[in-house]
Amino acid sequence: GLRKVNVVAREAAHARATPRSDRYLDVAAVTKRFGAATVLKDLDISVARSEFISLLGPSGCGKTTLLRLIAGLMKPDGGRIAIGGNDLTQVPAHKRNIGVVFQNYALFPHLSVEQNVAFGLEAQRTPKAEIGGRVQNALALVRMQAFAERRISALSGGQQQRVAVARALVVKPSLLLLDEPFSALDRKLRETMQIELRHLLRDLEITSIFVTHDQDEALVMSDRIAVMNEGRIEQLGTPDEVYSSPASLHVLEFVGQSTRIGGTASASGQGGDVSIETPIGQIRASMRRNSGPTGKVVVGIRPECIALGERPGADFNEITAELADIVFFGSKTALHFKPPAMEDRIQVEVARLPSGVAPGAALKLHWPIAETMVYPTP
Ligand code: ATP
Repeated sequence: GLRKVNVVAREAAHARATPRSDRYLDVAAVTKRFGAATVLKDLDISVARSEFISLLGPSGCGKTTLLRLIAGLMKPDGGRIAIGGNDLTQVPAHKRNIGVVFQNYALFPHLSVEQNVAFGLEAQRTPKAEIGGRVQNALALVRMQAFAERRISALSGGQQQRVAVARALVVKPSLLLLDEPFSALDRKLRETMQIELRHLLRDLEITSIFVTHDQDEALVMSDRIAVMNEGRIEQLGTPDEVYSSPASLHVLEFVGQSTRIGGTASASGQGGDVSIETPIGQIRASMRRNSGPTGKVVVGIRPECIALGERPGADFNEITAELADIVFFGSKTALHFKPPAMEDRIQVEVARLPSGVAPGAALKLHWPIAETMVYPTP
């Protein structure tokens, strides 16, 4: 939505202000097979120190597998994983000093909060005198000091989530891996935890990799997002880049709402634009943002780029379509148009619904040719 886009813009500005020159975590040409299935294919990703990266993609695309390889819980069939220049590919999990927070938290239910957080320090043979203070500090970070003596089984989901984060942070990990840590929380709590955890990790300058299949979560939290599909990274960019300039049709479909219209493209000669014949008429796209595919293509448009009314100039596309549905979201309203020749709906987002607009009305719609994306049909 619009609010999200503002958050995205702010986050992107932050990301641009952060230098990205150092390669802290380096995953190079990593391949993983299970039997005949190749789950990760020659995958490369570099993460800068104190950066927060999300791995975003549909179920089964290999997100968790990549995380487990980085954690050392599995060995790759090929490639190399290094942190701060040290090759860890052959180093066992317990010697990598990587913190992991899983979906189910994997806490010990009958131990206290304190005992759970102390566990990693004891395993590291940290001097007894040091343990108490470090556990208290870690609990203070996640605002769980008051619960130090409580049993895990007597905590809410959100409180357990905080303990899991404290337990991962207490050992001062060189890298923090989070695998859908909020999936068990209700929406309100999830949104609060997203923002709190993001602030905490930014303050502590902890390099983090976060697995999610929730695009909103990835947009809100990340410095950069790696959008994965079938064992590959299709795009690695700031939330703004991934949302505004999707590198592929998969990325367009997976991140944010969009209208997709099938058609046949040809170079129009008109200032180097592409012209696409579609079931709802001719659509033009600027070559500036598209590589200019010809033949069978899919046109993509973001809902907030489409406005009601006649086009204000030649740099806009214009169509007329019948309004099918009005969906009120509070801070915005979505309008769905259903031209008879199209299988999918045209999605339009407006801040306010103009008076007198009702389903069944034939309305003019326009959007800039500069905001028209074109992808070859897969
Ligand atoms: P989800 O969002 O559903 O957790 P994911 O992107 O994390 O999905 P992975 O768990 O990495 O996906 O799995 C990638 C693929 O590898 C899937 O097809 C999965 O079935 C397969 N896979 C994962 N672990 C194993 C295993 N131990 N043995 C065989 N196949 C596996």
